[in-house]
Amino acid sequence: MNIRKELKKIVDIGSRTSLVLSEFLAVIAGKKPVLIAGFHSESGKELIKSNFPNLTLFCGEIIIGNKQKNLCVISRNKSFAKQAIECLYSDNKKMGQLLGYPKCCIEKYLQVFNTSEISTNSPTITHQSYRNAKKCNFLTNNLFNFSSRIDCKKEQSKLYSQYRGLNNKEFFISSWNNLQFISHIPCSYDCKKSIKIGEEIDSLLKKYAPDIEKIIRYTLSKPILFFDLFKLVVFDGHLKGDILYYNKIIPPYFPLENLLMKKIKNGNKVVVTKSKVEIFKNNLSLFVYQKKNETDGFILDFSED
Ligand SMILES: [Zn+2]
Repeated sequence: MNIRKELKKIVDIGSRTSLVLSEFLAVIAGKKPVLIAGFHSESGKELIKSNFPNLTLFCGEIIIGNKQKNLCVISRNKSFAKQAIECLYSDNKKMGQLLGYPKCCIEKYLQVFNTSEISTNSPTITHQSYRNAKKCNFLTNNLFNFSSRIDCKKEQSKLYSQYRGLNNKEFFISSWNNLQFISHIPCSYDCKKSIKIGEEIDSLLKKYAPDIEKIIRYTLSKPILFFDLFKLVVFDGHLKGDILYYNKIIPPYFPLENLLMKKIKNGNKVVVTKSKVEIFKNNLSLFVYQKKNETDGFILDFSED
């Protein structure tokens, strides 16, 4: 089977496998050496094996947090797959290389985790990538990636099911974790190497799944009010100076406190300062959220120019 046929096939069966479409396309197109997958059922795994006999799929039991999880690695190259299953979650540097992440982003990641106590889910990580960028590029928007976000803590699994519940009826893409061009945490939201990966994945999606590409691009290229990885709001709007003007909020929706969400829905303007997030309807102040620290509420503007 030639690559083009394989790429088309992925789009056809992708939603039945629980794989991230963009990652799967990247592996087949030779843009990504290895991908990690957690299958919800044996049938997803079997579907890959029977449809893509050229791929190597190795699975193993991994302990994450205090839970045992069955994870698989998939690659076109048997040796890469073997190396990946051997160092899964034990050698982050090697794993980053096998997953095709840029060197600068791997180094930044290792530097942060070797020198501090913060976890991958900490809002500080997002804030650093934001602070390191002159202008956030939507191709590097990783805020809707879930594969590395849920580290099996009870609280996070609960938030994740709330997130799914909120978007169940609204959502438009068959698989849940498709809203991404890149899979990794970028060293900055204008990291050149991450943008390049994003462009490559975007053009694969454009070619093989144009309807899905439109939705991903639309969703990723918006201003986002960020509190933490389960508390964020996506706006149809634009940022002018420090003021975010918006018409409405758009999916995906996250489980925010009811009052804050209600005020945001009633408003049309957000102003963020170092100490507070204030919601306005025109010039009328509707609500003031007092920030606990600098990272507790800031706007990442991923709008296209
Ligand atoms: Zn980078």
